[in-house]
Amino acid sequence: MAESERTADIVIIGGGIMGLCLAYYLTQQGSLKISLLEKGLLAQASTGLSVGGIRQQFSHPSNIRLSQMTLELFSHFEEAFGRTLEFHKVGYLFLVEQEQTWKFFLENVRTQLELGVPVEVLSPHEIRERWPFLNTEGLQGGTFCAEDGYADPYSVAMAFAEAARSLGVSIQENTRVLEVRTGSGRVQGIRTSKGDVAAPIVINTAGAWAAELAATAEIRLPVKPYRRQVYVTRRFDDLPKPLPLIIDQDSLSYFRGEGEGILMGQTDPDEPPSFHTHVDRGFLEHLIEAVARRAPVLAQAEILRGWGGLYAVTPDENPIIGRLGELDGFYGAVGFSGHGFQHGPAVGRLLSELILSGDANFDLGPFTHSRFARPAGAGEKCTV
Ligand SMILES: Cc1cc2nc3c(=O)[nH]c(=O)nc-3n(C[C@H](O)[C@H](O)[C@H](O)COP(=O)(O)OP(=O)(O)OC[C@H]3O[C@@H](n4cnc5c(N)ncnc54)[C@H](O)[C@@H]3O)c2cc1C
Repeated sequence: MAESERTADIVIIGGGIMGLCLAYYLTQQGSLKISLLEKGLLAQASTGLSVGGIRQQFSHPSNIRLSQMTLELFSHFEEAFGRTLEFHKVGYLFLVEQEQTWKFFLENVRTQLELGVPVEVLSPHEIRERWPFLNTEGLQGGTFCAEDGYADPYSVAMAFAEAARSLGVSIQENTRVLEVRTGSGRVQGIRTSKGDVAAPIVINTAGAWAAELAATAEIRLPVKPYRRQVYVTRRFDDLPKPLPLIIDQDSLSYFRGEGEGILMGQTDPDEPPSFHTHVDRGFLEHLIEAVARRAPVLAQAEILRGWGGLYAVTPDENPIIGRLGELDGFYGAVGFSGHGFQHGPAVGRLLSELILSGDANFDLGPFTHSRFARPAGAGEKCTV
C-alpha cells in the first residue's frame, strides 16, 4: 500500500452497492480523503448476483420511503452519471392465497396509498383478465404497482464507482480488511492484507460478512448470511412480454422476464444460515413446481443457468443504518435482508448526511443498531 494511502478521513469497507453509493454521496458534501477497500472485485458479491428488483410494495413505511427516494434519485441518473439507466418498469404483482396474509396485504396497501404509492388491489377475476396465463385458483387476490420494476445492479453500482473514483475516492480491490482497530472508545483505523490505514471514521458496508468484520471491534451485529438461488431459462416465448415481476407470496417464489428467457427464484424458509452459494437440483425442482403452479406453461421451460448469492438478514428483516455499538466513529449500512440493491442509493445519501452533518433529515429510528437491545418492534414483513 502506498504511503499516501495509509491515512484517510473516512474508510469504507466493502465495494458493493452500499459502499459505492456511500462513497459517491460523501464526495458530494465536501473534500474528504475517502478510501474504499474491497476484498475481491467491486460489485461481484450480493450486488452483482442480485436480480435488481425495485418495488414500493413494502409493509414498513420507512422501506417504502427508501424505495421512493431511490426512484427519485434514479430519475436523475443520466444527468448525474452520464449513462442511461435501464430501468424496466414492468410492475410487481403479488399473488396471495392465505386469508391471513391477504388481510396483512390489505393493511400494507393502506400504508402504501397513504404514502402515494399507486398500488392496485385486484380480484382473482381481474388478475386473469390482465394476465390470462395465470392460474388464479385459490387466490384471495393480488396487489400490483405499475411503477415497480428492475434494473441491472452491476451497471448501477459501477456508475457510482466510476463517479466516486473520478471525484477522488481511492478504491482498492483485492484488499481484505482483517480488523477494525479501536482504542480510547473509538475507531482508530483498520488493518488490511496490504497494511494499516489510520482513520477516525470507519464504515462497515461488508454485506453478508458485516458481522464477522464488526466482531473484530468486539461489536455484535445480528446479521446472518443466507443463500438464495436464481435460475434463468432458455428463450421462452410462451409468456407475454413485458411480464411483471410476479411473486407468489405463499410459496415465496417469483419470476420475471430476463432477455429472451424467464428468471425465477424462491426463498426456502428452512434454509439454515451459511456462506454456501452453490445451486442444487432438488431446490430447482421445487422452484419449477412452485412457479408452474401459478403459470403452468413454465413447466415446459428449459433451464439455461443458475447461480446462488447471499442475503444478509437481520432478525426483523430491516437493515441497520448508522452508528454501530458504542464505538465513536464506527458506522454501518448492513443487513438489508434481500432489498439492499434498491435501497443502496437512498441509504448512501442518508448515511453520508448523518455522518457529515449529524442529521439525515429522515427518521432512521427503525434502523438503529440499538433497537435490538429493546423488545422487538414492527420490522419488514413483506420480504421474499
Ligand atoms: C439472489 C439475490 C437476489 C436479490 N434480489 C434483490 C432484488 O431484487 N432487489 C434488491 O433490492 N436486492 C436484492 N438482493 C439483495 C441485494 O443484492 C443486497 O441487499 C445488496 O446487494 C447488498 O449490498 P451490499 O453492498 O451491502 O453487499 P455486497 O454487494 O455483498 O457487498 C459487500 C462487499 O463487501 C466486501 N467485503 C466483505 N468483507 C470484507 C472485508 N473484510 N474486507 C474488504 N471487503 C469486504 C465483499 O467482498 C462485498 O463485495 C438480492 C440478493 C441476492 C443474493
